[in-house]
Amino acid sequence: MTVDSALRSPMMHSPSTKDVKALRFIEEMTRNVDFVQKKVIREILSRNSDTEYLKRFGLKGFTDRKTFKTKVPVVTYDDLKPEIQRIANGDRSMILSSYPITEFLTSSGTSAGERKLMPTIDEDMDRRQLLYSLLMPVMNLYVPGLDKGKALYFLFVKTESKTPGGLPARPVLTSYYKSEQFKRRPYDPYNVYTSPNEAILCPDSSQSMYTQMLCGLLMRHEVLRLGAVFASGLLRAIGFLQTNWKELADDISTGTLSSRISDPAIKESMSKILTKPDQELADFITSVCGQDNSWEGIITKIWPNTKYLDVIVTGAMAQYIPMLEYYSGGLPMACTMYASSESYFGINLKPMCKPSEVSYTIMPNMAYFEFLPHHEVPTEKSELVELADVEVGKEYELVITTYAGLNRYRVGDILQVTGFYNSAPQFKFVRRKNVLLSIESDKTDEAELQSAVENASLLLGEQGTRVIEYTSYAETKTIPGHYVIYWELLVKDQTNPPNDEVMARCCLEMEESLNSVYRQSRVADKSIGPLEIRVVKNGTFEELMDYAISRGASINQYKVPRCVSFTPIMELLDSRVVSTHFSPALPHWSPERRR
Ligand code: AMP
Repeated sequence: MTVDSALRSPMMHSPSTKDVKALRFIEEMTRNVDFVQKKVIREILSRNSDTEYLKRFGLKGFTDRKTFKTKVPVVTYDDLKPEIQRIANGDRSMILSSYPITEFLTSSGTSAGERKLMPTIDEDMDRRQLLYSLLMPVMNLYVPGLDKGKALYFLFVKTESKTPGGLPARPVLTSYYKSEQFKRRPYDPYNVYTSPNEAILCPDSSQSMYTQMLCGLLMRHEVLRLGAVFASGLLRAIGFLQTNWKELADDISTGTLSSRISDPAIKESMSKILTKPDQELADFITSVCGQDNSWEGIITKIWPNTKYLDVIVTGAMAQYIPMLEYYSGGLPMACTMYASSESYFGINLKPMCKPSEVSYTIMPNMAYFEFLPHHEVPTEKSELVELADVEVGKEYELVITTYAGLNRYRVGDILQVTGFYNSAPQFKFVRRKNVLLSIESDKTDEAELQSAVENASLLLGEQGTRVIEYTSYAETKTIPGHYVIYWELLVKDQTNPPNDEVMARCCLEMEESLNSVYRQSRVADKSIGPLEIRVVKNGTFEELMDYAISRGASINQYKVPRCVSFTPIMELLDSRVVSTHFSPALPHWSPERRR
């Protein structure tokens, strides 16, 4: 086996020993998918055989896939909630895992409006680290010379809390950035970041962003790649530069750090980076950023050596591709991996491909994977398909069994098989099940939107006005993006329609009703702007139906779409708007979970 054949791509340079090792590992995993999966499930079931959960289903020490599939049911988060709650409350017995649950990772998926809590064990960090270690060796096959400069990545930690039983509950990336593995990572010329750890680890997102941007500007010629985890994050950074470039240029011109930075660790680390005035750089930033109408290609103007953007633009993030193209002058966008709080899944073996062609290859050592054929209503007898047996072209819902104790857990992602690399299937991320609206990590489903509309419309009740139809739209052309809700109203007293104050309260009430990830994004992360209601003329939704029917929809089966994005429909709706209203304040949010 040669590494050259490993990724079947034109080799652009000879890989380092470290890269060869990683590429060999990928080769080994992708050639032996079924064998590795069999081994993984055996390991998980034998070490967890004494857990309350597996005992309940009478597994009696069996570790083969057939018995596991016959006895243990496919579940959702809500099925596991009682067990998760007990662990969160401090029960240390072997409920889901025989290894101690060390923390909960807070997923951006929600249950009853709160983030889901995913159990994790100590060694999971090594599994995540392993997946990360495969990314650069693959990238190096396509983009040479990345060791000759730095990466400007906007990375952030988020607020964390503790469960009643004292376990930390925080997002997976926060857990990773705060880990010793990340903080004390050995020097690797392929992974040198412009951002100091102190800036990444600062809990105040504004100080963190300011410092990371400042460092990126100071080292602008060294930057070879630019990124954030998701596209929304990178666009937020551009938005931040738009509003703060003057202050940043001022710091560079004087060689002193803005008084807005109060974090002592950042101040200390910046004293070694911002050491002297650089008027030339300050003037350059002023001239480039000061051209109000010309931010097209700003990324390549400021960071001329950037070879690609490292950012996820698949799934809900695809809506940001046009804006990223605009700001970057069409730089390639690399989607390198597919992961979640439950488990990390896989990597993109062709990271420089077009966003529409991205496929992820699941690494069979990460967890045990099963696939529920999509479009089939699952029944007791539903056959789940093994990773090695999925079929090209078909769509499946991902179901995983993890070392930390999730058994046959429905992740909620719909994937389509696009092909195979060796015997490993490759998947296009199709969408997240049931998600209607998403700006960044928030995921709002139809039921949540419905209940938010219902709650808000109660405020109209006094005047006898009712919401007769509604739909929604994720407005992402502005930074930050925001939710737009179109309302058609039945106004009882035409002489007294709801005024702007009432409508603004409706906007805020909707926000109060949305899930905690939405509210956190609004309040703490400021990554979502105020919710907007656009009131449309009476009869607009009739017109919407006529339009759908003219395009072939059946009258009998027509349902009002609860989320729209198709341009002609947007144009129709927007041309019928009679008034627009914005949420006047922030909704409530605190890191503590609602009891
Ligand atoms: P979280 O719930 O916060 O752990 O986020 C994990 C979810 O983010 C996954 O289940 C996917 O729905 C989504 N996600 C993660 N990576 C990707 C990717 N590369 N492309 C599209 N969606 C992704």
